[in-house]
Amino acid sequence: MIPVRAYFRLFTGYLRPHRPKAVLLSGILLITIVLQLVNPQLIKLFIDDAVAGEPASALVPIAIAFMVVAVIHQLLAVWSTFLAEQIGWSATNQLRADLTDHVLHLDMGFHKSTSPGALIERIDGDVTALSNFFSSMIIKVLGNSALLIGILILLWMETWTVGLAITVLTAGTFLGLFRLHGVTVPWQKDIRATAAELNGFIGEQIDGTEDIEANGATGFMLSRFDAIERKWLPQVVRGWTGWAMMWSASMGLYFASLAIAFTFGSWLFGAGALTLGSVYLVFQYVEMAHRPIEQIREELIDLQKAGASIERVEGLLARQSALVQRDTIVLPDGPLPIRFDGVTFRYDDEAGDEIVLEDVSFDIAPGRVVGLLGRTGSGKSTVARLVTRMYEPQGGAVRIGGSASWDIDIVNLRHRVAMVTQDVQLFRATVRDNLTFFNDSITDAELHDVIHRLELDEWLASLPAGLDSMLESGSGGLSAGQAQLLAFTRVFLRNPGVVVLDEASSRLDPATEALLERAVDHLLENRTAILIAHRLATVSRADDIVILEDGRVIECGERVSLERDPESKFSRLLATGMEEALV
Ligand code: ATP
Ligand code: MG
Repeated sequence: MIPVRAYFRLFTGYLRPHRPKAVLLSGILLITIVLQLVNPQLIKLFIDDAVAGEPASALVPIAIAFMVVAVIHQLLAVWSTFLAEQIGWSATNQLRADLTDHVLHLDMGFHKSTSPGALIERIDGDVTALSNFFSSMIIKVLGNSALLIGILILLWMETWTVGLAITVLTAGTFLGLFRLHGVTVPWQKDIRATAAELNGFIGEQIDGTEDIEANGATGFMLSRFDAIERKWLPQVVRGWTGWAMMWSASMGLYFASLAIAFTFGSWLFGAGALTLGSVYLVFQYVEMAHRPIEQIREELIDLQKAGASIERVEGLLARQSALVQRDTIVLPDGPLPIRFDGVTFRYDDEAGDEIVLEDVSFDIAPGRVVGLLGRTGSGKSTVARLVTRMYEPQGGAVRIGGSASWDIDIVNLRHRVAMVTQDVQLFRATVRDNLTFFNDSITDAELHDVIHRLELDEWLASLPAGLDSMLESGSGGLSAGQAQLLAFTRVFLRNPGVVVLDEASSRLDPATEALLERAVDHLLENRTAILIAHRLATVSRADDIVILEDGRVIECGERVSLERDPESKFSRLLATGMEEALV
């Protein structure tokens, strides 16, 4: 059913800043409704005067009044549309912004389990469905109901027989429409659900074009597409049938009412009970009654849609981040110590899900560089995600700068702890915007300075238009190595106390590799670092080594002493050739 409280809260909350405009709009809408009732009266007067043989001097003022009323009515209609759009867009844009802000603060678990398409649908699709609701839905439903009642009263006053007949007919049709509405709404919901499924499917396919083509899976994908379409077609047909049934009902009412008006009108006129003007008036009001009925019907459909949207919007707003802020400690400047205290972690909170990290403990002194080694799937990237607090551990604690990560202000933490991941996300924008994340306060001079300090001038010179070169989204446009260089510059700009480097396992060309090596040297100066290394060259930078296996620490210690100890896993790793052993 319609969640009245949620409606009210959203409605008042988002309309408050626009109250003067909303009041003005309501006033205008009410005036336009009243004006609609006036013109038929003028026509009746005109007809009756004309039939009675009044001179033109008596008729012209009536005609002028009619035109003035009509023009005012049109002007007000334009003005009210303008206001309604303005209020609707301002209120919904605010809601979009609030939802986006909220979603950006949710944990990674939420983002992994919600597809981007679904999020777009919730933040934009659902909110768009609320635009009409914010601006004019309620006043339109009330206003049109008032108009309908006004018309019926005027009909009763003119001739009670027609009034009674039309009232009974209208009431009956409304009851029927409500019934029908209840039946067809679930049909519409089915259509929307399948549409969402289809969009999600298409989005996935476009994303995976390269893999699908390369694996010759096009046929299978098309047949899945076909299956969804097959499911969709009967739903759409049924949905439109429902719509047609409602439309027929309301058209049926319209024609029956006109028939009544004509029959009674001609009969009463013949009997001398009604003037010609009155017959016209009755006919005009009956025809006019059709409009508010249609509008109320449409608004009710909109209201239902808005109800579903409000439920989803409220649900999203009510979703709490798994990252609980308990305190707001601010981290000091300079390199920070990191400590894992018996950390146990699974990606899915539900019991039974695979444990990814089990009782992981290690200690990193400020300014040390730690090489984190382990086979693929051993949990290295997971450690990195816990350090940057993308997730919360289920057991134990991650301590940064001496404080448990959940006690540290999250914005501050994200500022002081930087990560370069295996796949760098690029945005469809210039290199400059990709480096600064669209922060205009960072000047080109600062950028050049940072690039120079990272010794990446050569890289910058190799870009076709320097900082203005356009990049594609995803990882398009740059090689893996170049993307990593860009990511380093991003990190360097923020000057963090902790750097986590999840090295790309792909091999790089020697020139890029040399650039990367030098940049890493600069990046690690005076910072605590965790290097997730796949290459010997990277490991040799580390002061300490931590080796993971199946989510547990199987060895940790100073690199030099581990290297010297022939019994250590690390020295055996080096002996067998790390690059082979770790793949
Ligand atoms: P690689 O060297 O290949 O990068 P890794 O050591 O970084 O491997 P992780 O990415 O930390 O390994 O993954 C550890 C385990 O957690 C794997 O079993 C993986 O399947 C699982 N895992 C990783 N990411 C997720 C996720 N988002 N949701 C659920 N499970 C995940
Ligand atoms: Mg990884």
